[in-house]
Amino acid sequence: MALLKGFDPFMVAPWFDLPTHKLRPQLKDRRHGVVVGAGIAGITTACALAKRGWTVEIIESNEAIAQGGSGNPQGIVLPRINIGDSAEGEFYDVAFLKTLSELERLKQQFPELNWQQGGVLQLGSTERIKKQIAHLKCTSEALHKTVHKTICKIVQVLNSKAASEIAGVKIDEEALYFPQAGWIDPVQLCRLLLKKAGDSVQLKNNCHVGSIDIDEGVWTLRDEKQSLVAQSDTVILANASAASNFTQTAFLPLNDARGQISVVSSTESSQKLSCAICHNGYIIPESNGKHVIGASFIAGDDSAESRLEDDRENINRLRKSLPGLFSGEPSIVDSRAAVRATTPDRLPLVGPVADEAFFAKNYHDLHKGRPVEKYASAQYLDGLYVNTGHGARGLTSAFLTAEVIASQLNDEPLAVSDSIWQALSPSRFTIRKYRKASNI
Ligand SMILES: Cc1cc2nc3c(=O)[nH]c(=O)nc-3n(C[C@H](O)[C@H](O)[C@H](O)COP(=O)(O)OP(=O)(O)OC[C@H]3O[C@@H](n4cnc5c(N)ncnc54)[C@H](O)[C@@H]3O)c2cc1C
Repeated sequence: MALLKGFDPFMVAPWFDLPTHKLRPQLKDRRHGVVVGAGIAGITTACALAKRGWTVEIIESNEAIAQGGSGNPQGIVLPRINIGDSAEGEFYDVAFLKTLSELERLKQQFPELNWQQGGVLQLGSTERIKKQIAHLKCTSEALHKTVHKTICKIVQVLNSKAASEIAGVKIDEEALYFPQAGWIDPVQLCRLLLKKAGDSVQLKNNCHVGSIDIDEGVWTLRDEKQSLVAQSDTVILANASAASNFTQTAFLPLNDARGQISVVSSTESSQKLSCAICHNGYIIPESNGKHVIGASFIAGDDSAESRLEDDRENINRLRKSLPGLFSGEPSIVDSRAAVRATTPDRLPLVGPVADEAFFAKNYHDLHKGRPVEKYASAQYLDGLYVNTGHGARGLTSAFLTAEVIASQLNDEPLAVSDSIWQALSPSRFTIRKYRKASNI
């Protein structure tokens, strides 16, 4: 891969330069922000700002918090494993460790937090995961150099005997084991985070943001009837795939992927399950006589209606991966569907929103390979940020991305490495488009 002329790999390319808020003196006295969306991304963002002395309003279209993707009764906290020196792997590992420390702290304050750190087994259900198991098993020093170090601290490879001992049920294959991973009640988590933030975070429910406009540095949010919803010089869109419904953000490549979990009654045999297991879906150990199993994934479908065929698919996949877990047909007692916001590279979109016109004017010729210093620093829409596209891993990724936004807005050292920031930048797809023709 050829580098751009004059490109210093230790320098952040000017198209990834961040805005500086020192130029926004009003922020010093009035650190107030508006977050759109009261799911895990919006709530963690509001809390990260509140922790730094901000007051934040969260605007939510539903009548309660965590009714979209973040509304399942239980979800798994687990990194998306990606061995090798990739920013994706590094991001999910760091995000996972950040989440663990946040949950530990929250549990100390609120012992009722339903965070079960019971470990998660990942079966080799896809070629990608099989390859990763093979990679991790190889102890040669040369190979270990390519496996970034954090990963070795959070995952182990177990043979089928050891995996069965840990799981409490028979596992027929070797598997990855994440001893620190677990499962959580996302709705309760969101509720306790807001409780912890206290009066610094105010929630406005039943309020759908239909448009956003900036005038003299102040954003005005209106509902679909054009009534005023909120005003602030800082707005963070954390409203899943609807974040790209605004004129200013229409370029963001967000897609919908419907998913459904099913709740099944536990049986004598399934009650022996002592850790969560991910296969082509997942199963969580029983709680009150029930297991949550999941989850279907239908790209391009934005329906949140429960469907019988999704329940059947969840059960079929479970029976195929863990045939001995239930003696008969598991009986379904409930199900819940919701929509995930996904991106083409499976990483969330986190940070300031690009001034698209500026990017087109200044970076359209990136494919020509001009010296990097000839390019101007990136420009953004003043005070507009996004934190979305968390796909199937929002419970693991949101705490870290909230810190990324809060550190940017407070001109602090970035909460992640430059390579992770570039991998999360909402402008990355625009930049890739302009670089494409050159094979760089
Ligand atoms: C079936 C299923 C199973 C899953 N299992 C797991 C799991 O085990 N582990 C895991 O980590 N992740 C899991 N996920 C993914 C995870 O739930 C998501 O990544 C996460 O919830 C995303 O959070 P969010 O805050 O970005 O979005 P959401 O929780 O969807 O929140 C967005 C909010 O924005 C609001 N909103 C939208 N538009 C507007 C507007 N214009 N004005 C005001 N408000 C608006 C919505 O009402 C919603 O409340 C699962 C998802 C599904 C669907």
